[in-house]
Amino acid sequence: MTTETRRTEGGPIDYSSFESPGGLNWYLIDPNLRALMERHLAPADREWAEGVLVRWGELCGGPIARRAEVIDRNPPRLERYDAWGNEIGEIVHHPEAIAQKRDIWDEGPQGVRARAGREIPTVLGSAFTYLLSQSDTGMVCSTGMTGGVESLVARYAPPAVRESILARLQSPTFDGSWDGAMFMTEIRGGSDLATSETVARQDGERWLLNGSKWFCSNVDARAIATLARPVGAAEGLRGLALFLVPAERADGTRNGIHIKRLKDKLGTRSVPTAEVDFVDAEAHIMSNPRAEADSEARGLNRMMSMVNGSRLGVATMGLGIMRRSFLEAAVYAAHRLAFGKRLDEHAMVRETLVNMVVALEGASAMVFEAASLAGSTGDEKGRRLYRILVPLAKFRGARGGLELASQAVEMLGGNGYIETWPSARQLRDAQCHTIWEGAENIICLDVLRAMAKESAHDALLDRVDRALASVEHPALAAIKDIAVQARRDTQEVIAFLARADKDIRQLHARRVTAWLADLTQAALLLEQAEDELRQSGSARKAAVARLFVRDRLLQSPLRGISEDRSVLDAFESITGYAPLDVSALPAGV
Ligand SMILES: Cc1cc2nc3c(=O)[nH]c(=O)nc-3n(C[C@H](O)[C@H](O)[C@H](O)COP(=O)(O)OP(=O)(O)OC[C@H]3O[C@@H](n4cnc5c(N)ncnc54)[C@H](O)[C@@H]3O)c2cc1C
Repeated sequence: MTTETRRTEGGPIDYSSFESPGGLNWYLIDPNLRALMERHLAPADREWAEGVLVRWGELCGGPIARRAEVIDRNPPRLERYDAWGNEIGEIVHHPEAIAQKRDIWDEGPQGVRARAGREIPTVLGSAFTYLLSQSDTGMVCSTGMTGGVESLVARYAPPAVRESILARLQSPTFDGSWDGAMFMTEIRGGSDLATSETVARQDGERWLLNGSKWFCSNVDARAIATLARPVGAAEGLRGLALFLVPAERADGTRNGIHIKRLKDKLGTRSVPTAEVDFVDAEAHIMSNPRAEADSEARGLNRMMSMVNGSRLGVATMGLGIMRRSFLEAAVYAAHRLAFGKRLDEHAMVRETLVNMVVALEGASAMVFEAASLAGSTGDEKGRRLYRILVPLAKFRGARGGLELASQAVEMLGGNGYIETWPSARQLRDAQCHTIWEGAENIICLDVLRAMAKESAHDALLDRVDRALASVEHPALAAIKDIAVQARRDTQEVIAFLARADKDIRQLHARRVTAWLADLTQAALLLEQAEDELRQSGSARKAAVARLFVRDRLLQSPLRGISEDRSVLDAFESITGYAPLDVSALPAGV
């Protein structure tokens, strides 16, 4: 029996028919992902994308998920010296990790791109990430950074080395490929890079870097993007230049990259993270060290173009953990008995599972909306919308992964806390997402920066207006009214920010970020609900949008204690992705 057929005709997915999420095709069992692909991919790409995602969903739910557990227990280790005491700084991976990397390279975005002979749309890339992070979010770190370094090399590496390095980063097969990595954080700070102390000295044609990097993930990558201050350059962020450090010098000998130790991490153990010293490490410069303060040619600005892409990646990784957590919880709750009935027949369990789906679909709407805008360079409004959607998506996706992973652990009771069940690892892994590529507060400050410097909120509110204007179905009227009111109130928030002192603005950065995220997600869910009602007559997405709006945009009297039983009545439709009759949707919010 295939994943697809484990539901009665048009009926809800029957989670009790699965022994566990492991072994299922995670693409086929995810109707919301499939709907998002339908929504965001160009019609000409859909059939092709469906084919590659069916294959990828099978791998991620099957061998990749299975190996992830083995790798977590057998993480990479550092072999510092060879038998003669020569420093080799080799990272030794478990054989299952090598098999994992091979599958991910050959069957994932790299291999698919090579076989198709074309770039893959970012939305499809995000679907790859979302599915892979459900099984092994650490491995997404290596693929994401390789993609990021590739784009920096393509745009900024000196012509003399560009093609040869690109050929490795774009290798059609795992054999002969190079990974990329990004070493920015130093011991004095990851958020505040102005304190960076690594120094770059020009020596004829080449640059030599000296200094220490404190967090270096995918440390055995062969192409490393990093920041250093050329001798005599300005203090602070302005003086930082962007460099590419290959694992080998031009003469073929080992470069001056010394791995001091591997971090003993809480999670994401499949990717090695290390402390590294650069000692006369040979490097290629990829920015103009004399660039003006605001110039695109400044090192930090160029590096941040990679960071913005990887922030979307981290948002998607969190989203993947949200999905896996729901799936683990739903399957467990469909099997486990307590007090004479299945867990998922108890009212509070139903509400937890419904809330997980609502949070997941709200975050998915925003993450894939951002992905659909990546690279909209010709369209200024699209660029500004992308600019602000990325930190909003990172804020929601990363925290959502952590929250849902914790709920999945709780759903599994004592078993959830035990490492033989996958939810414990998911919870450990998820914590990383709120920190790397910008800790949560830094992301909130980035939202304020996007508003102040680029008026990115105007583009966001235009998008919200467009979504709300599309909503006409009478069943959505009451929900829409609440969202429209929140949209009006947003003007007051913006006016408040404009007149507030800097410390007050910063004090409220998290609230403002949460506000904009809630409003955007509500509007996008309403737009999707309208489309679903029009296309199929089902009110399932409307039920999801209603719960989202009720819980995030409305100050409920008595904190929501009421006769409203919609989560119980719509439970099977919402969690099992089955159509819902409009008559089942409560009239009010
Ligand atoms: C597993 C892992 C892998 C990593 N891999 C890499 C890597 O490959 N390359 C790399 O360059 N880095 C990497 N990092 C580092 C990561 O990017 C940093 O840890 C992160 O940017 C935060 O920097 P920090 O640790 O110095 O914390 P700090 O900057 O010291 O921040 C500590 C806390 O203070 C808050 N804070 C800081 N400034 C402000 C402010 N102005 N207002 C309000 N709050 C503030 C932060 O939100 C955070 O909560 C990795 C981290 C982890 C955990």
